Parts: sequence; structure tokens; C-alpha cells
Amino acid sequence: MRKSNYVLAAGVLAVSLTACSKPAAPETTAAETTAAETTAAETTAAETAGIADGTYTGEGTGKGGKIVVEVTFKDSKIEAIKVLENAETPGFAEAMDTLTEAMITANQVDVDGVSGATLTSNGFTEAVKDALAKSGGTAEQLAATGVTAEKEAREDSYTADVVVVGAGGAGLSAAVTAAEAGAKVIVVEKMMMPGGNTLISGGEMAAPGNWLQAEQGVEDSVDQFYNDILKGGDNENDPELVRVLAENALPAAEWLKDDIQMTFEDYMLFFGGHSVERSLVPLNATGVEMIEKLTAKAESLGVEIHTNTPAKELVQTDGKVTAVKAEYDGKEITYNANKGVILATGGFGSNLEMRIANNPDMNEKILSTNTVGSTGDGITMAEALGAQTVDMQYIQTYPTCDPETGTLLYVGDVRLEGRSILVNLEGKRFVEELERRDVISMAVTQQTGGVSYMFWDEASMEASKVNVKHEKEYNNLIERGILVKADTVEEAAAHFGIDAAELQKTIDKYNEYCEKGKDEEFNKRGELVAFTDGPYYIMKSTPAIHHTMGGLKINTDAQVLTTENEVIPGLYAAGEVTGDIHGTNRLGSDAIADIVVFGRIAGKNAAEGK
Ligand code: ADP
Repeated sequence: MRKSNYVLAAGVLAVSLTACSKPAAPETTAAETTAAETTAAETTAAETAGIADGTYTGEGTGKGGKIVVEVTFKDSKIEAIKVLENAETPGFAEAMDTLTEAMITANQVDVDGVSGATLTSNGFTEAVKDALAKSGGTAEQLAATGVTAEKEAREDSYTADVVVVGAGGAGLSAAVTAAEAGAKVIVVEKMMMPGGNTLISGGEMAAPGNWLQAEQGVEDSVDQFYNDILKGGDNENDPELVRVLAENALPAAEWLKDDIQMTFEDYMLFFGGHSVERSLVPLNATGVEMIEKLTAKAESLGVEIHTNTPAKELVQTDGKVTAVKAEYDGKEITYNANKGVILATGGFGSNLEMRIANNPDMNEKILSTNTVGSTGDGITMAEALGAQTVDMQYIQTYPTCDPETGTLLYVGDVRLEGRSILVNLEGKRFVEELERRDVISMAVTQQTGGVSYMFWDEASMEASKVNVKHEKEYNNLIERGILVKADTVEEAAAHFGIDAAELQKTIDKYNEYCEKGKDEEFNKRGELVAFTDGPYYIMKSTPAIHHTMGGLKINTDAQVLTTENEVIPGLYAAGEVTGDIHGTNRLGSDAIADIVVFGRIAGKNAAEGK
């Protein structure tokens, strides 16, 4: 196992997933390139029985049409694959990134497709095969070289006390807790590294009564948090599960800080729908800190993490779940669990078929912030044993995502600090900026072009420092013209064709509300700070699929229930794979609280074989 590589790779994954989802500008097309016209840098094929060094283009047909790739071979190895042209929907386009990694690692073109993105996977593979054919090489030659195929030796079966499926925040919290309780734990993770959606999230965590609230004199309580979660979910939530979440959020945050040694920033964020500012922010405001520290802790406790190992099936013996069948490098591996199996496979935001089956509005036209691993596998595997699902139709969109890729834009956190307004193309505000995600998303879809424009000034930039905290994203947005910085309001508005005169009126009106201390139009919560001097910033964004509220029905012990509300012995679930905790709509920063709280409960109970 190359355990130490996870940490380094984590940030890379987050970046590459986002970068890949943007359709690449066509530099060359396959039609223009024939085998004879390849841009081969060197051609030394004759010297070996391998593949000629060089760069070749290839073409395939994906879900959205033509996919053109450029493949570089060196020493009979796939050195790089670049997508030159594609029209895949961003949620699917990300599958090409996963396949690229898999093909380079295995030095093969025949790798498993990404579930939920079959057509894209097929089209991409076809294009790479086409490039290989143009090089004059064959799949067999690649496989024979096999130099880069760093495969781990794997047994046919393993036995642990607790087997965890999925190495996101919930799975790792569960694994560490079970190991701390003395259990031998193995985690199987289908992607090449731990992290899941947790890794690419902002990592903020709601915790009522936390240390920063105490310092800043913010009054809060478990009851207040409990009421906010229920209200935010339109009371469709299971109150018992919500009670557990509310009561255990602070102990979970303290566990992360004191036991897991996570570093938190010294400020909080005010997420939409909460009644007070209560959300802790991890180092650098990303999920990387949490995944790195949980992974390190898990490894220090002897937890084995088997990556590239998708779980396929749960095994029941006399009604009790006793094993997980998974796959590694095309081979079936059985993971026996003496005490219990924990499903922590995340949501199904990247499984288009499952999305549409449960909510036809969540179709391929809507972009997604999710990693490609979020395909609802845990739900499918547990349903095969008669497990109950709840609230599957409730799928949340995040209101301010990249209009081209669907990536969640962290520069937009300036809104959560109360320092920006949202306007439409007509220059007018249309919603309370700290409303619930679903309310803002719905309001945005009703505006011209289905987009919103976030406006703020230099003082807000300095206060929030989003340009420093999320520097790479900031620079990328500026480069692509999705974010503009200008000396005057008029100039900034002109970049997007926003009605500048109306926007100025909107700003003046907002500033009056700030002076009065009351937003008379939208009743914006929190402190109101007037806009002052430039430069000014405007960022264009759109809603994208973010969280699936529905999933497996669990009890307060994180045990999975059947459709008859009976416990399935030996089976636990935690995190986004579960349902009924957030009702119709999850409030920002409640997911991290949820995954750690229920991850710890599942880990403890599974270790005890409860
Ligand atoms: P949560 O927030 O609930 O922890 P994440 O999305 O962060 O959810 O993590 C879920 C993890 O589960 C991801 O790393 C994902 O790749 C992994 N996963 C999903 N399906 C499977 C599967 N069939 N086998 C193993 N791991 C899986």
C-alpha cells in the first residue's frame, strides 16, 4: 500500500476533478489528424518491440457526442492523456479524469468504466484505443510492458472485526472510532484515494456551543440547532435522528480537534438557514484537513485502507451481514466481518439514472459538484437485502456554482460572511442571500439565464480574504471571465452585460438598509455592512447538484432498517448514504456534523457487535 501518497494526492484530486470537468478547447480534431501526421516527438519504436514514443490523437463517441483525446506514449507506457474536445455534461466529464488516472496507473486501455457514466466511459476508452491504434501499438504490448502497473498483492479474502465501505468523512470517522474501541478494521474504497465528497467540500461543521461562540459571546444551544435543522428540512426529518445529531455535534467537533488533531481556523461562517453563526471552519476552509488527519489517525491505529476496491455485494449468513464482496483489479475479494459492516458510500449525486428515477427534475441538464464516486452503491447493495430507503426525491442543489463546470465556488463564501449581495442580469436583488440553499437555488433558476451575479466591494474582499484562501480558484475564475474585478460598478457590470444603472440603485438601497440596520426588502439576517469604495467584484454562478438528502433508513444506533422497520443485524450506515436526517433540505455545514456524529456511532456499535 502506498499509504503516504494519499495526502499528497488529495489536493491534486480535488483540483484535477474540477479542472477536468471543463470542456477542453479543441486544439486539433481527429479529422485533421491521420496516423501519418501524428505529432510524434521521437520515434524509437524500432529499437524495442514496444510502442513508438510519441503523441497521437484518437476519437470516440460519448454521451454528448465526439470525444477527442491526445495520448502520449513513452517507453511503451501511457505517459499522459489529454482531452482535446468533448461535449460531455460536467458530471460525466469527470469520469474521464478517473479513467485517465486508472489507465496511466495500470498502463492499460481496458480498465473498468465509471458506474453511472457508462456512455462517457465507453466513448473515452474508444478514443484512447483509437490513439493507440494510430501509434501502431496494441493493448497487448501495453499490458506486456506492464512497467507502471503498480498492483498490490491481494489475498482472496480478508477477515476483520469491522469492515467499512467508503473512505470519506463518515467511513474514516467510523473506522477510527471502531479501531479506538479495539476492533481490527479494514476500509474498502472504490476510488484511488480516500476522501469522497468530504475531501472536495469546504469542510465546515456546525457545532452549537463551540469554543469560538464562547469567545465571541454568541448564544446558542442544542435545542436551537435542533430546531434549525428541523425547520430547514420542513419537518420532514426524523426528530429522533436530528436530536442525536444536535446533541453530539459539539462532542464530535471536540473529538476532531483534540483526538484527531484537526486544525480549525479562528473564525466561523454563517450558513444559510441557521439562526446564529455556529459553523467551524477547518484549516484553509477545505475538507482536505479532515481527510488527511483522519487517514493519518486511522493508519496509526492499524486500520487498513484498500483503495481501488469497489464493494459490490453484501453477504448475509442467517440474517446477519457477515461479509462484503469487493473487486480489485478484476478479481473478487471477500472481506469477512466478525462484528459488523458499515456502509459509508456517500450519496448518489453522480448517478444520473438514480437521480432521474427519484426526481426527474434532476436531469442531465443540471451540473453537479459531486465526485464521480457518489453513485449510491451502498443504497443499491443494502436494498438487495430489503433495506428501507427514505426521502430519495429530495436532492439539493448548491446555489452558487461554476456556470461552466458545476464546481462549488469557494470564492462565493464571501456571501456566508454576510458581505455580498446576489443580483440578476437586470441589476436587482431577488432573494435573501442567507436563505436556505433550496430557496436561493429555486430563485436563481427563475432569473434571466438561470444564473445569479454576486457583488461585493474591496472592503468585503479584505474582510473575507476569499482571494487569498482560495487563490487558485480565484485566479482561475478571473482568467475565465467568470469573476471580474473592476474599479467602478459600471465597468464590472459591463463585463456581464448587467444593467449598471439598476445595479447602482440596488447598491444604494442596500446601503440605506445597512444604515438603518434592517433589510426592508429581503430581511437579510446577520450584521449588515454597507458597500464602500472599489475595486468591485462580480461573480457569475448557477445552482448545481450537491447533496442527496435521501438514503438508507437507520435508527439512532446507526443500524440499517428493513422496509418493515426491523434491524438488519450486522449492518450499519453513516453519512450521506443515509436518509431522513435533513428532511427536504440540508443546511450548510450540517453534513460534516452528520457524518462525524453518525460515523462515530456506527464505529462504536459495530466494534461492540451491538
Ligand atoms: P460521506 O460524506 O458520507 O462520508 P463521501 O462522499 O465523503 O461521503 O465518501 C463516500 C466514499 O465512499 C467515497 O470516497 C466513495 O468513493 C466511496 N464509495 C462509494 N461507493 C463505494 C463502493 N461501492 N465501494 C467502496 N467505496 C465506495
